[in-house]
Amino acid sequence: MILISACLAGIPCKYNGESNEVPEIKKLLEEGKACAVCPEVMGGLSTPRIPSERCGDKVLMQDGTDVTEQFQRGAEEAMKVCRYYKCTKAVLKARSPSCGCQGTYDGTFTHTLGEQNGIFAQMLMDAGIECISEEEYRKENEDECL
Ligand code: SF4
Repeated sequence: MILISACLAGIPCKYNGESNEVPEIKKLLEEGKACAVCPEVMGGLSTPRIPSERCGDKVLMQDGTDVTEQFQRGAEEAMKVCRYYKCTKAVLKARSPSCGCQGTYDGTFTHTLGEQNGIFAQMLMDAGIECISEEEYRKENEDECL
């Protein structure tokens, strides 16, 4: 079973109330090959919500509200789903402060990429789960079709 960021499957849980649907990833869910989690919603944040970025050890909303606790709690809840379904791989939304697995925005809200991974992505990697972004997933699948 593959773990996926829920917004990639078309679930409108993104901060602005929209999704980041990728049809190939949505298909994984429809075919029963994947389970979907949104750690930010699972941590108690509402949708829509003010966007957040990682800022050192904290996660802050653009208005300065500290949402580190919600991000941490949501990541722990989503980890329970990962363990329950014995997922060994995750396809995660790039650059999200929860799900980004190859860096996230740096806390300046200027779309500047920093080195820190998302809270949930880092938790998965620390647990030995293979993490790739939807961008890498698309590229891998394009390559398979060539
Ligand atoms: Fe998507 Fe992850 Fe953000 Fe939820 S927390 S909206 S699943 S990127």
